[in-house]
Amino acid sequence: MQKSEREHAIAKAAFALMSQHGVVPTPANYELFYTYAAAENPAVARQIDERIAQGEAFTPEFLEQLHKSINTTARTRDAMEAIEQSISTTLNATMHSLESAGRDALAYGRTLSEVSGELGDERSPDDLRKLMNELTGATRAMEQRTKQLEAELQQSSDEVADLKSKLDDVRRESLTDPLTGISNRKRFDDDLANAIASSSMTGEPFALFMCDIDHFKSFNDTWGHQTGDQVLRLIATCLSENVKGRDTAARYGGEEFCVILRQTTLDHALNLAEQIRTNVQSKKLVKKSTGDILGTITISIGVAQFAPGETAETLIKRADACLYAAKHSGRNRVLGEMELRPDTNIIAAA
Ligand code: GH3
Ligand code: MG
Ligand code: MG
Repeated sequence: MQKSEREHAIAKAAFALMSQHGVVPTPANYELFYTYAAAENPAVARQIDERIAQGEAFTPEFLEQLHKSINTTARTRDAMEAIEQSISTTLNATMHSLESAGRDALAYGRTLSEVSGELGDERSPDDLRKLMNELTGATRAMEQRTKQLEAELQQSSDEVADLKSKLDDVRRESLTDPLTGISNRKRFDDDLANAIASSSMTGEPFALFMCDIDHFKSFNDTWGHQTGDQVLRLIATCLSENVKGRDTAARYGGEEFCVILRQTTLDHALNLAEQIRTNVQSKKLVKKSTGDILGTITISIGVAQFAPGETAETLIKRADACLYAAKHSGRNRVLGEMELRPDTNIIAAA
């Protein structure tokens, strides 16, 4: 297939999907579905696939969030390309300095061997003085060249250190949720894989909880999306303040958060989740700009402990099943997997 034919096919598929799912054809939405149809971004594909599989509507909030994540990916890619380019320029300049210093050292060596060759011959004091002058001149030049080379090497080493720190920034940004500043889904996925690997090796327990804001849609409908965003930041702060440095508090997507608790059993995770739940509930929300009293917000949490041998997917499913049960039993509560009644068959159905 020619390139333009492929692009037409992707564009057609993108429009078909958008109309099938009732997505308004704004430029941003088109970019999103084009990215999906072109299979250019696995994270976007996964989130859209999940949404379709669960039969959930493509709400403007969901689409906006996803579109932001494409831009973050593109920004990260551009930043990485710029840094790679700078590293290559710095390395080329360093190689160049070293090569030319090598040539200068060779010339200096040649001067020295010429002088030492000439020393063997019968020489008048004048000749000797001339030789000494030549030698001193060449040595000074070499000394200067060495100093210059040192300065050049120092500069490139500074540049490399600077680039390294920029690279660290880009890496950190690519793993951070821009709205709340806590870990994003990618960081969560990586950390969960690491937690599973290390727990499988050491046999130490760890737990996971999933948390979802109660009736958040109606909060947004009443107070507006921007105030809703402030609530997301508040929950993120509350989560990260209540976990240890080795744990991961992440925004899993939309208004859902996940926490990985290292070296923690189900009981301890339940206690912590309960502490966080009451902490969130106790906050009296006030809109700073107007002084409006927004009331309180509550969250529901589902908690599961890693079972040796299981995958990240099944652990998440179990925590999610608990969250679902917490919602169904009245919201604003924490529910652990022990409390799932077998007759509800929630785990088997999840
Ligand atoms: P439940 O108690 O069952 O969780 O009810 P809910 O209304 O919270 O759940 P639902 O899934 O129906 O709605 C989730 C809402 O979360 C919809 C959307 O308005 C809101 N939301 C998702 N992402 C964002 C976001 O980035 N910012 C804001 N302000 N709201 C968001
Ligand atoms: Mg939700
Ligand atoms: Mg909710």
